[in-house]
Amino acid sequence: MQNQTKQKVAYFSMEIALSNDIHTYSGGLGVLAGDTIRSSADLKLPLVGVSLISKKGYFKQELTPDGKQMEHEDPWDPAKFMQLLPEEVTVPIQSRDVHVKAWLYNAVSQTGGVVPVYFLDTDVEGNSSEDKEITSFLYGGDERYRLKQEIVLGIGGVRMLEKLGISVRKYHMNEGHSAFLALELLRQWEMDVDKVRDNCIFTTHTPVESGHDKFSYDLVKEVLGDYVPLEVLKSIGGEDQLNMTRLALNLSNYINGVAKRHSESSKEMFPGYEIYAITNGIHSYTWTCASFRSLYDKYLPGWANEPNLLVRVDVIPDEEIWQAHKDAKKSLIDHINKVTNSDMSIETLTIGFARRATEYKRATLIFSDLQRLRRINRKTPIQLIFAGKAHPKDYQGKKIIEQIFSYIQKLKDEIKIVYLENYDLETAAKVIAGVDVWLNTPHPPFEASGTSGMKAAHNGVVNFSVLDGWWIEGWIEGITGWSIGPHPEERISQEERNSREIDDLYNKLEYIIAPMFYAKRDEWIRAMKNSIGKIAYYFNSHRMMRRYVIEAYF
Ligand SMILES: *Cc1c(COP(=O)(O)O)cnc(C)c1O
Repeated sequence: MQNQTKQKVAYFSMEIALSNDIHTYSGGLGVLAGDTIRSSADLKLPLVGVSLISKKGYFKQELTPDGKQMEHEDPWDPAKFMQLLPEEVTVPIQSRDVHVKAWLYNAVSQTGGVVPVYFLDTDVEGNSSEDKEITSFLYGGDERYRLKQEIVLGIGGVRMLEKLGISVRKYHMNEGHSAFLALELLRQWEMDVDKVRDNCIFTTHTPVESGHDKFSYDLVKEVLGDYVPLEVLKSIGGEDQLNMTRLALNLSNYINGVAKRHSESSKEMFPGYEIYAITNGIHSYTWTCASFRSLYDKYLPGWANEPNLLVRVDVIPDEEIWQAHKDAKKSLIDHINKVTNSDMSIETLTIGFARRATEYKRATLIFSDLQRLRRINRKTPIQLIFAGKAHPKDYQGKKIIEQIFSYIQKLKDEIKIVYLENYDLETAAKVIAGVDVWLNTPHPPFEASGTSGMKAAHNGVVNFSVLDGWWIEGWIEGITGWSIGPHPEERISQEERNSREIDDLYNKLEYIIAPMFYAKRDEWIRAMKNSIGKIAYYFNSHRMMRRYVIEAYF
């Protein structure tokens, strides 16, 4: 399919995680975008990526001894990884022309597939010093700054692809940040809404109304001027405020949520739109640790470009599965003992929880009853590993980190608990592969999909999770892992749901999970194999991209 003269799918995303040294991502959305690019390259799909260069990164997290998050600029040097192209376009911002250039990064697969990714940059000669900063910080600054970034991404992205002579068969908006691309097409195509819709695909990731990007029309008028008539904008982007999700919904004819349940809740939130479901996946090779890679290479050759083969995991002897896991666990525990100066043990049941520190993820749920946690630990020792950044303006999220630090202090003579600094791709890969159990306790229905549990499954790490997002589809109780709390369909009060979640968390940990881990190793290895054979074989981005190709791109 790789043919330069063929039309491309243009995949737009505010963040893309390509490697640990390229700081153009903050979390799950960016990692998904990176996995999309990697699978597309493996599968030789005719796809190009468009994003912002974010030269000063998201931020580097430092944690004080009492868990206060300090944020530092996280600059990186694009010239080390990519090439600045000579082409230049302009976008209208506050009635001036802001100049935009692009850096080209080629994501090259072992299969020979190549996916070019264009990173837009306003740090260009001719721009004011303020405009040069538009593409500096990912998710930084105020609303005005965000609006300018989205103008560069959407409008600048379309213009840059045109300038580069890339012919586009479909534009794919990964979340609403890039919805101005559809507005640019609308302007270019003389307000032909049907034509624009025929060319646009929108993937929504946000399960709650408050999470969608919105801008006041006063701000839009100030920044975007009379780029399109205000009445037109209001009719497609919302009467009171410009809602980027509405804009994308109204200008796309294929819309999807990122898990089955998420598409249902999106339909409730946006009645009148057909919203499909393509459940997320992760890039199998990237998220499988070295010891499991070699095991799969030995027994399931070709797995990396055909992850469905993992369904045949039973051809691998139990001892080798356990040894591969012990290797990953040792590498994590050695790392932790070195960087945090602790003395965690490779023999102890190790539970991991690492993701964005924000309220709905409920990182502190496991500390709801310290007496119970202590009791479990006396019978069957446990150790806990945490990591995650809070967005600089998420004060609640920062407080959660401090709370975890205070629990670490309180329990320090009994239970070993660490919080690792600066969660990034490298830390994620190490932590997720090296623990025994991957804990996930979101407040339903706020986890649209979640992907870290899929990464865990690829490494034989067993999921223990609230039934939300992808886990509703991956979960078979006691076989692929364990649920926490009632099924989302059960109509019960919030208080009852919460107390049943806490009960389940402790009961299953005390009476099922820890005893199985310590005393029934063969059953434990069965659960590990089921994670690989019944989860990883399906929840990967190769399957996801094949579905986008068949259902959305063609
Ligand atoms: C996979 C990943 C995430 C997403 O984790 P969830 O638990 O699905 O929210 C976030 N950050 C990093 C660095 C990741 O690798």
